[in-house]
Amino acid sequence: MIPASFDYTRPASVGEATSALAADEDAKVIAGGQSLLPLLRLRFAYPSLLVDLGGLDELRGVRDAGDSLEIGALTTHYELTKDPLIAAHCGLLAQAAGTIADPAVRHRGTIGGALSHADPAGDLPAVVTALDAVLVITGPAGTREVSPGDFFADYLTTTLAPGEILISVRVPKLGDGWGYRYEKFHLTAQAWAIVGVAALARRSDGHVAEARIALTNMGATPVRAAAAEAAAAGAEASAAAMRAAAQQADEGTSPPDDLRAGSDYRRHLARVLTSRALVIAASV
Ligand SMILES: Cc1cc2nc3c(=O)[nH]c(=O)nc-3n(C[C@H](O)[C@H](O)[C@H](O)COP(=O)(O)OP(=O)(O)OC[C@H]3O[C@@H](n4cnc5c(N)ncnc54)[C@H](O)[C@@H]3O)c2cc1C
Repeated sequence: MIPASFDYTRPASVGEATSALAADEDAKVIAGGQSLLPLLRLRFAYPSLLVDLGGLDELRGVRDAGDSLEIGALTTHYELTKDPLIAAHCGLLAQAAGTIADPAVRHRGTIGGALSHADPAGDLPAVVTALDAVLVITGPAGTREVSPGDFFADYLTTTLAPGEILISVRVPKLGDGWGYRYEKFHLTAQAWAIVGVAALARRSDGHVAEARIALTNMGATPVRAAAAEAAAAGAEASAAAMRAAAQQADEGTSPPDDLRAGSDYRRHLARVLTSRALVIAASV
């Protein structure tokens, strides 16, 4: 289908972009277009104005910011898989980005778009949740920083206010002893996750000192598997102990029951995938 007509602007600065958004309550940002363009074509979205961030080079790329990495919102999934700083300090992001869709989507889609779209089946929301990232947002009222838990509000819904843009994602560097793994169950190689699990474990003296686990598509927003995290923390860093901790991965979740999978099946997948992810994360 052909999208409804809209005006188009390509601002030269972040300030111009937020001003354009603030001036028109039906305006929408476009980044890689990989989620928005299908919605426009189906007429599920019909903005009066598209504010194209594509000219804002200041929002591209990865910068070393001391004990964290500052990832510009326009950094593509492909760039996440290739960036040496990400490989060195938060490889989970690279590994998970490499599972998104296909090369064409990965070359266009951006981390800012993937997070702002807030699809429960999207991979990166759970990954930034497990990484304890900070999302940097700017708008008419200035710049603010929020945790993923305060950013993802509901199905396809964030706490971005009118006129606001996600400008970067700040990811704390993983120090020594951290292992990680993103596990995803999908029916074909390019399909969205039916369930995904982002797991991190910090080993110390043969034990898991700290575990962080976030789940994709086990609720309307990314969910921390708090019971499994608590069970893994302090346990021996053995496969048996990690498998046992993973049995609590679905506690406190509300997985959807839809045509692709029932909620009981998703609960089963969450336990199995958490087990696989934790065993790998704790074995590094
Ligand atoms: C065939 C196909 C398969 C896919 N498979 C997967 C998959 O397996 N896993 C997965 O995670 N994703 C998948 N995706 C989605 C893909 O990752 C998209 O790139 C991503 O969801 C959106 O990024 P984008 O830059 O294209 O955003 P856009 O489509 O440009 O925008 C998406 C939404 O975010 C808003 N937005 C964009 N950038 C910003 C910003 N900086 N600040 C505020 N709002 C912003 C837009 O207004 C829009 O509402 C798939 C897409 C396709 C087409």
